[in-house]
Amino acid sequence: MPEGDTAYRAAHHLARSLTGRTIDRFELRVPNFVQFDLTGEKIVGADARGKHILLRIGDHTVHSHLGMDGSWRLVPPGSSGGLRSSSGGLRGRPARIDGARGGPTVAWPATHRIRAIIGTDAVIALGIDLAKLECWPTADEPLRLGWLGPDLLAAEPDLAEARRRVLSQPDRSITAALLDQRNVAGLGNEYVTEMCFLRGVLPSRTVAEVGDIDEWLTLGRQLMLANRDRVERTFTGDLRRPNWVFGREGRQCRRCGSDLVAGTHDSGTTRSGATDRESVWCPSCQR
Ligand SMILES: [Zn+2]
Repeated sequence: MPEGDTAYRAAHHLARSLTGRTIDRFELRVPNFVQFDLTGEKIVGADARGKHILLRIGDHTVHSHLGMDGSWRLVPPGSSGGLRSSSGGLRGRPARIDGARGGPTVAWPATHRIRAIIGTDAVIALGIDLAKLECWPTADEPLRLGWLGPDLLAAEPDLAEARRRVLSQPDRSITAALLDQRNVAGLGNEYVTEMCFLRGVLPSRTVAEVGDIDEWLTLGRQLMLANRDRVERTFTGDLRRPNWVFGREGRQCRRCGSDLVAGTHDSGTTRSGATDRESVWCPSCQR
């Protein structure tokens, strides 16, 4: 599932491939932006803030959020004609295109999954299954994203401010406090579930019960830094057995052998409509 490390990597790849290039095709296939066109503008760069991806073009920013299933994919140009019409013949099956200059064959996703097409003469960026996609003047970034807490993957995140925000609601569960992007930006459910195991704390514990918040934030940053340049995420250091508890319901604890317990924990936001998220914990290692 995309979390802050995924957004960081996506922004990094977009920036490396697109910065300085000129847009020759621009489509945002979402209401309100269908008519919006930045063709002819130059790509300034790309950046992530928490789980949000910012692609800056001219004096505008294309803002996307990967949600549960979203991604950005880079494909070679020169083969996209059939995709211009959303009612074209590619519906339901991936089109395969041949890479430029004898490069690898790249599969495009089904047309209905493509939300954004940002084309240049060197590479095309496809925004696929994005949960959120919009475009506004770059000058509005503080207004649009100012609600986000300190970004754990920033060069020098303001952990003291994140700590202050988390501690402002001591009776809240630690999972809700860490998942709330207004407190600290970047952590998602997989991170928070694994952090509870690594700290030996049940996901239902409150902020006031779980010890030094600085240590939680530092652990979150260390895990994100360790994973941000990897394709496969790991919390154990072992890519073959990447998780301690997340996704391992019904199996045994890697540390003590107890049967892991599946349940839910507080998600910290009603923004997505759900207040609970799936959780897994070890009844022996976590108290
Ligand atoms: Zn255990």
